[in-house]
Amino acid sequence: MAVKEVNAEGKPVVNGNGVPLFKNKMTKLDEKLDNEVVYEFGGPIGVFCMMLGFPSLMYYMWVCLEYHQGKIITPSSFTKEGITQFVLEEIIAKVKLGAMPTVAAAKIYLGFVAYSAVMAYIMPGPVINGLPLPSLNGGKLKYLCNGLSSWYATLVLSAVLHVTGIFRLTSIIENFGGIMSVAIIWGFTLTALVNGISVLMGKQHRMSGNVIYDFFMGVCLNPRIGKLDLKMWAETRVPWPVLFFTSVSCALKQYELRGYISGPVAFMVLAHFLYCNACQKGEECIPTSWDIFYEKDGFMLIFWNMAGVPFTYCYSSIYLMKYELTTGVTIQHSWAYTVGLFITLLFAYYIFDTGNSQKNRFRMEQNGSFVTRAAFPQLPYGHIKNPTYIKTEHGNLLLTSGWWGVVRKPHYTADLIQSLSWGLITGAGSFLPYFYFCFFVCVLTHRVSRDMERCAKKYGKDWDKYCEKVPYIFVPYVF
Ligand code: NDP
Repeated sequence: MAVKEVNAEGKPVVNGNGVPLFKNKMTKLDEKLDNEVVYEFGGPIGVFCMMLGFPSLMYYMWVCLEYHQGKIITPSSFTKEGITQFVLEEIIAKVKLGAMPTVAAAKIYLGFVAYSAVMAYIMPGPVINGLPLPSLNGGKLKYLCNGLSSWYATLVLSAVLHVTGIFRLTSIIENFGGIMSVAIIWGFTLTALVNGISVLMGKQHRMSGNVIYDFFMGVCLNPRIGKLDLKMWAETRVPWPVLFFTSVSCALKQYELRGYISGPVAFMVLAHFLYCNACQKGEECIPTSWDIFYEKDGFMLIFWNMAGVPFTYCYSSIYLMKYELTTGVTIQHSWAYTVGLFITLLFAYYIFDTGNSQKNRFRMEQNGSFVTRAAFPQLPYGHIKNPTYIKTEHGNLLLTSGWWGVVRKPHYTADLIQSLSWGLITGAGSFLPYFYFCFFVCVLTHRVSRDMERCAKKYGKDWDKYCEKVPYIFVPYVF
């Protein structure tokens, strides 16, 4: 049952919008759901295949982009003097040729990883309470949200390093294959370290008992080094800046070679800037997100953040650049098409940004962790005054105002549109710039089904009431 928080005079405590706050009392159901082991992703065999499959797929797609103008290669693509060679042999040969982990690549990637960890430790920012955790009997962890100050400092520092020639940002794309390999190795290494140390420290949480499955899903819920929360750092500080700087690197390379930056290349820099900036400026909303309060810090999150996100979400930028380098032709579209996509991106970004803000700020108000920040851009409609909601027996409130009154996952729909626009800006010459969109559809639909199942168990008939009030998940009147 929900227990309202009361002040010394016995009156209910309300937040700035007059919504009552509830005590963070953990129910038995919270604990049960938090400890329940459900084999996801096909269980141990499925996750084992994914751990082998992710890096292999990354290398395969890299070879397609680097040596074949983004064309999907098959054995028949490798016909040499009438003899069809085995595709795997070719891929290995090309990886050896262009994606060996070099010292220069290690310096760039691991240098940035170390730098970002130091910045996460030392830069100023507000301290935000996470959600009450069943494993801490309702206790909350504190998160130093200094992503914004670190991000602004990184933008200035990178410009200075590039202009002075101390570190030319074009080196990122020149060493791309090697950097990707270092990131892949680092993804496995960090997972092993975090899992191993967590076991030694007795920090096991929601363990399945299967070594492979637990390596993939993780051991510890919230691994920390002092005040540095490793999961939060890995979620925001490495993948998105690396992705952004990869696109900047492609744009600078184009400028060096051509003396201009084309519309599609500028589009990708803007798209990656918006996404990265959103993660930093809204960092204080992240402690209340699913990854932070529920997912453990295993291979899935670590590898994907350290290697998967930056080195697969960047295919549009890489494709545009490689196509130009190998054919001498800059990919351009009609003004109407390009401008249309810019408008689509900005519109989708607006819904994505305000959708996340609306729910997270609403939740932060319940949690007593709401803060206003001077971060750019603060978009109108990102914070709903006097929202409507469904009060659950559990105690949590389910928002039914703003975009959350239209569909149950407005931020997912907007995010998917953004990812589709990243592909569309490259035209129809290659599937690879659409890989992120296709992959993301699978990720988000799987995530939705996991989340809905969990919420249905957690909120029971209140969840049914909520689904009745907001019947569509992604698109009103369609799905
Ligand atoms: P959500 O922000 O959807 O969080 C889900 C949780 O929110 C639920 O478990 C529930 O938690 C709570 N909730 C659900 N409905 C409501 C409601 N109406 N009112 C209040 N609380 C509600 O999920 P994510 O963390 O998955 O996504 C956050 C963002 O990150 C999205 O924009 C997504 O697109 C993006 N993302 C991007 C990825 C990428 O690779 N680019 C990968 C994954 C996500 P509770 O149990 O507390 O009620």
